[in-house]
Amino acid sequence: MIFPGGRINYEKRVVERMIRFYCIHREGNRELCPECRELLAYAVVRLDCCRFGDRKPVCKKCPVHCYKISMRERMRCVMRYAGPRLLWYRPLDAFGHLLCRLRLFGGR
Ligand SMILES: [Zn+2]
Repeated sequence: MIFPGGRINYEKRVVERMIRFYCIHREGNRELCPECRELLAYAVVRLDCCRFGDRKPVCKKCPVHCYKISMRERMRCVMRYAGPRLLWYRPLDAFGHLLCRLRLFGGR
């Protein structure tokens, strides 16, 4: 699979899309609320800090638990809501990779 602009940038776009979707549809906001903005900023920093960069290993083999618990919980809510709804028009493998990388669905 080809990631225009690199895998990290691709994942940033996916995460942003999911958080935005969650905030607007689930929370009924017009724009990202401060909490979701914080979560997004956190996620972006995590991706920037990913020591594997664009050569990230497959998620199951990734040794890094890079989300702190509170943020992981919030991200879990976002993904649970936005994931299935966005799956319709996002590539499955990229999503699967992302979800599994965050270890939200038992990937270990
Ligand atoms: Zn929000």
